[in-house]
Amino acid sequence: MKPREPAPSFASVVRALEGLHGTPEPPAVDEPFEMLLWERVAYLVPDERRAAAFAALKERIGASPEAILAAPRKTLVEIARLGGMHPEMRAEELREIARDVKDLFRGDLRSVLRLPLPDAKRALMRFPGIGAPGAEKILLFAGAYPLLPLESNGLRTLLRLGYGIDQGNYAASYRSAQAALEEELPRDLPWLVRAHQLLRRHGQTTCKASVPLCERCPLRSGCRTFRSRGA
Ligand code: SF4
Repeated sequence: MKPREPAPSFASVVRALEGLHGTPEPPAVDEPFEMLLWERVAYLVPDERRAAAFAALKERIGASPEAILAAPRKTLVEIARLGGMHPEMRAEELREIARDVKDLFRGDLRSVLRLPLPDAKRALMRFPGIGAPGAEKILLFAGAYPLLPLESNGLRTLLRLGYGIDQGNYAASYRSAQAALEEELPRDLPWLVRAHQLLRRHGQTTCKASVPLCERCPLRSGCRTFRSRGA
């Protein structure tokens, strides 16, 4: 059997993506509690609409556990509606998040940043909609740990490039891609944030789920999927 060609160096991948997409703006939100709100205030909508819903939350209610618990349910639902479907359910989840942070973390979720990594991830994964990638994103963006969280777009891009193997389920594929990258990740947190953002952007705009736009991709010469298609 023909041996698999190695994936290109990850640093060169990130450089090429930065050349194509430009240097990303720093994340809009990097405080742990606000990041939980950012995730639940909207659902399956473009970033701009999520940002608008989050801005309305901050302006009309405030982004502290106390403010959210004191807010009328009707207002929370109105704001959640700006962020897409299931607004009643997400309004309730916003209250649940606020209640848990107040009761279990004395109102300050930043205390998780001081926990050992496995404990910090476990503590964050108790919140609605937060799995391992979401917990790792919070810990990276808040400056606690040098991780490379991968949402679906970034993971798809890496697997197609040849980092790890698609195992047919998200968690196993995620672990496979992260294991393949382990030796190549620097401890440079801002660089890792940019790598996460660029992989996401590339998956959204170029390495698309249905039909990847390989002809405009600067990674194609080193891409396992592109080579396997014999293009
Ligand atoms: S060459 Fe195609 S499959 Fe490979 S990373 Fe680029 S867009 Fe994705």
